[in-house]
Amino acid sequence: MTLDSRSLAERVSAEIGLSLTGTEGQDGDGCRWFELLPAGHPVSQTFTIRTIVGWRRVDVYFRPGNFAVDLINAMSSADESCRHTFLAILATCCDAGAEVLLTINGTARDPEDETIWEYQWRSLGLVIGKGMLAINGGDAETDMRKIEHWTSRLAAAIVALLPLEPEEAADKSLEVIGLPEGAKTQIEVNRYERDRRNRAAAIAIHGYACKVCYLEMGARYGPTAAGLIEVHHVTPVSKIGPRYIVNPKTDLIPLCPNCHSAVHRRSPPFTVVELQEILEQRNKGN
Ligand SMILES: [Zn+2]
Ligand SMILES: [Zn+2]
Repeated sequence: MTLDSRSLAERVSAEIGLSLTGTEGQDGDGCRWFELLPAGHPVSQTFTIRTIVGWRRVDVYFRPGNFAVDLINAMSSADESCRHTFLAILATCCDAGAEVLLTINGTARDPEDETIWEYQWRSLGLVIGKGMLAINGGDAETDMRKIEHWTSRLAAAIVALLPLEPEEAADKSLEVIGLPEGAKTQIEVNRYERDRRNRAAAIAIHGYACKVCYLEMGARYGPTAAGLIEVHHVTPVSKIGPRYIVNPKTDLIPLCPNCHSAVHRRSPPFTVVELQEILEQRNKGN
């Protein structure tokens, strides 16, 4: 698989649930860059995500359009759950050794500073930079995965704050495929697994490998299946009250389609450890 802007746009779109188009080029220093923008929207009123690929490093920039004030404004009034998701993604990036630079109304701000939510944002900048990265080693697919991963993380952080339309009903069927009748009601209640922003956040935080069997779909099926993973909400529905705030780090885990279907064979769902024990017993028996 070659590394081009189209495939990058396709992969990041699939991950964050927002349709993006891509362009690419090379800057004066010979660094390759990619730009992703929301498809079908005037870029001046939305934003661009620019990824610059340096020597063993990737820098991803969020750049709002010149007339994106309304959008930026809306982002500053995202609800508490969205803010938590935004912060959790940025914290994951820092934990992974990236530099995160957040600029609000022209001033660099600490994302953990709670006062940033107390005023209206007129301008917003976000840069996530990761050095010491295992890229430029000659394997285009490895490079692609790393570039996609860091681009998706920034995109997921932005999407967490965007005012999005509620999910289409058609998408619901995806979640209930392969589930026993009894689980359907529970899945309906558990909207957290369907929320695209939660999905993007969970993958940005946990990566693509299944938490039960450690399968990475891309590793087994190749590039066609890269990034193919489902997100499971581990907190029992009975513990979710009306004011419940999802924490993508502790509440959501990536599961391969097989393991995801399997955990939902019981209500409440099997835990990761329970399903792992079942697999272990099976392996011993064979
Ligand atoms: Zn699995
Ligand atoms: Zn689930």
